[in-house]
Amino acid sequence: IKYILVTGGVISGVGKGIISSSIGVLLKNNGYKVSAIKIDPYLNIDAGTFSPYEHGEVFVLDDGGEVDLDLGNYERFLNVRLTRDNNITTGKMFQHVTERERRGDYCGKTVQMIPHLTDAIIEWIERVAKIPVDNTNQTPDVCIIELGGTVGDIEGMAYLSAFERFQCPKMRNRLMNVHVSLILEPKAAGEPKTKPMQNSVRNLRMSGLTADLLICRSSNPLALDVRQKIASFGPADLDQVINVHDVSNIYKVPLLLQEQGVLEKIIDRLQLPTIPDTVRDD
Ligand code: ADP
Repeated sequence: IKYILVTGGVISGVGKGIISSSIGVLLKNNGYKVSAIKIDPYLNIDAGTFSPYEHGEVFVLDDGGEVDLDLGNYERFLNVRLTRDNNITTGKMFQHVTERERRGDYCGKTVQMIPHLTDAIIEWIERVAKIPVDNTNQTPDVCIIELGGTVGDIEGMAYLSAFERFQCPKMRNRLMNVHVSLILEPKAAGEPKTKPMQNSVRNLRMSGLTADLLICRSSNPLALDVRQKIASFGPADLDQVINVHDVSNIYKVPLLLQEQGVLEKIIDRLQLPTIPDTVRDD
């Protein structure tokens, strides 16, 4: 199973959820089985106790799990059924690790964020990603993991540290990072500004991850010279710089990604088997 980690920069609400779901749609429509995990780096155990004023309505899964609204996006976009374990919160992970500690699983050891919490995060993800999510009962090929919040937040650090291990040569083709960041277009400046995005990419690198695709969210379509500028400041080629501007209907986002060759780039980066065009039954 391969992973696509979706991170966000500059502000929350930049469109990570829609982009994660849209990437899933591209993969699914091309014959890959897709699952999804949402990480909410809060200390709440589940979304049942989040403020609906801040997070929107709670989404309730078939197993009764009260989870973030994004899981609802995934179920609708991908026509899958997820479980409560597909929503990780820091509260849940801490509870999991401290229960193991009380049971004596770490007996004699100092229990630490690295490696005990980070190991627990990866184990959890590897276990949940394999759960079949559609009526075929087959293991998914790809699991999309959306990390809530923005890169640089203290809350997200443990997760980024956990994913850093996929950077070692043996694991490199198992996980790719899609970084979604905002390009600001202040009226007074009269041109798109890329500095906040540059900083978020730098923050990501400081956390040990390199963006394989940089998705630039902007109000209007970006001109080629802006994309070239973005490519020139970081370890990204022009073809890794993707633009998703504001659209009237979010179901257009998969088309924007498709037009820019995102599927081919994912297949290439993760070395996915090329699945012949199959007519999907759903
Ligand atoms: P995040 O997961 O980063 O918090 P979401 O994916 O939930 O962000 O998106 C935040 C809001 O922006 C949602 O209401 C979503 O419908 C809207 N949105 C996301 N992408 C676009 C887009 N390309 N054009 C217009 N609205 C969008």
